Amino acid sequence: MNDTGTINPCRPGFGASCALCCGSHNYDASREEIESLFQKRREMFRLFSSDYLLKQLRASRSNLTGSYYPDRTIDNGIIITMPKLYDDGLQCPFVCLLDDDTPGCAIYPAHGEDDRRFDCFQNYTCKYFSCASKDILTDEEILYAARLFHDWYYYTLFIHSIDILRKFRLSHPILEKIEESALSALKQLLDASLRSEKNLHTITSYFT
Ligand code: SF4
Ligand code: SF4
Repeated sequence: MNDTGTINPCRPGFGASCALCCGSHNYDASREEIESLFQKRREMFRLFSSDYLLKQLRASRSNLTGSYYPDRTIDNGIIITMPKLYDDGLQCPFVCLLDDDTPGCAIYPAHGEDDRRFDCFQNYTCKYFSCASKDILTDEEILYAARLFHDWYYYTLFIHSIDILRKFRLSHPILEKIEESALSALKQLLDASLRSEKNLHTITSYFT
């Protein structure tokens, strides 16, 4: 476990970010289609205050299980989504592009004034959640990934494919010397993982 890390893998800088535990990649869709969805949500959520969205989310909570079911109670016009890649994987309808074009939470913004962690959509979906990337990767590995991709899409897949990351870094230790063909092959590998590695999409599940 990385107890000495100081870099936050969720937002490490260099234009990279992660929202995998909010289900950012669990769509049976291309990157462009997912980004377009996040953009549409951003425009939609701008019409509402986060307080209003939170109220709606709370109203969808089951008294029996404690889980939230926003798609059952919130106006269809507010919840816009696409089919899941894995049905038992998380896909939160409140992930959208934030102002800096980084995917993030419409309800629980990073710099909110009050603490809304206990109103997260995925409360009760998972009892225990520990992020392997956060726990295992070193600061150097996280920064290597961030500086390689500068994005949310491949950066996320890379830091959650720890074996692939470590192997690639070992064979390409100097970022500036990485050839386009090697980067392209890496992206293809990560694209394949996105579809074949169910664990990427169920990291917050009870049963994985
Ligand atoms: S999956 Fe891990 S690195 Fe990604 S946003 Fe969640 S806690 Fe952060
Ligand atoms: S409510 Fe916000 S923090 Fe919780 S899963 Fe959805 S987008 Fe992520």
